[in-house]
Amino acid sequence: MYVFQFASDLRRFLSAQAISQQPVGFVPTMGALHDGHLQLVRQAQAEGYLCVCSIFVNPTQFNDPEDLRKYPRMPVSDIAILAKAGCNALFMPPVEEVYPSGTTPGLPFDFGALEQVMEGAFRPGHFQGVAQVVSRLLDLVQPRRLYMGQKDFQQTAIIREMLRQQGSSVELCIAETVRETDGLAMSSRNQRLTPEFRRAAPAIYKALLETRRLFPEMPIPDICRHATQILSEAGLRPEYFEIVNGRTLLPLDNPLRADYVVACTAAWAGDVRLIDNLVLRSPSQEGAL
Ligand code: AMP
Repeated sequence: MYVFQFASDLRRFLSAQAISQQPVGFVPTMGALHDGHLQLVRQAQAEGYLCVCSIFVNPTQFNDPEDLRKYPRMPVSDIAILAKAGCNALFMPPVEEVYPSGTTPGLPFDFGALEQVMEGAFRPGHFQGVAQVVSRLLDLVQPRRLYMGQKDFQQTAIIREMLRQQGSSVELCIAETVRETDGLAMSSRNQRLTPEFRRAAPAIYKALLETRRLFPEMPIPDICRHATQILSEAGLRPEYFEIVNGRTLLPLDNPLRADYVVACTAAWAGDVRLIDNLVLRSPSQEGAL
């Protein structure tokens, strides 16, 4: 596996590779890699793509400086993990390489309600930062496919909208959420859980499964109250628990009206903020997303 720190070296490598005509599948990450990330790498490989990963803890998407400071960083083991997984190239740039003119955003993106609800409401500016970095990385890597995880459901909606607004031909591929055996969604942040909160955290998946069991027969506000109670009783501090239209991300008022329904939540386990979601009703037409 080739490892690049500088954009110019990465570009040189990609230009040389272009001769082989193998299209590039790109997996952007913030490192501290786990099986959720590797699933994206494997999917790119299985679909015949030259797999390019990035590891970059993007400062512009952290609204909380403490969260940025504490974000796990383990470059040496990450490189070994990706090399073993057969990733073709890894881009691990310093901040100045991604933002040569500084981290101040240029023209803001306008994602409307998509960036105002749920994560957007609790993490102001987060999705502007996500769009800024993904846009920059896509410019550098120029992949045919971009691989992202369902775990960050709202992020996938934002990036889909960004690609649409930019008229991009990049295909967004979404992979299922990979979970620990007790149901906790894999996340780099799980490493920061104390043993006590690690034991409590699977309540998030339990609450989502309960939601799936109760939807659509029970009224939505009652389901959300019940799910929130499961989280609180486990010792977690829920920030939101919502059942939303999977296309607009707006809270669902009438359960019969949307063909794509997702339950989404964020909860604090001690000082670690965890997010998760579960599809309650799958979209009738994938292509229409
Ligand atoms: P991150 O390093 O957290 O920014 O994640 C990089 C990519 O991996 C994003 O597209 C995430 O949605 C995806 N990802 C993270 N955790 C999981 C998981 N448990 N299952 C599937 N994809 C994931």
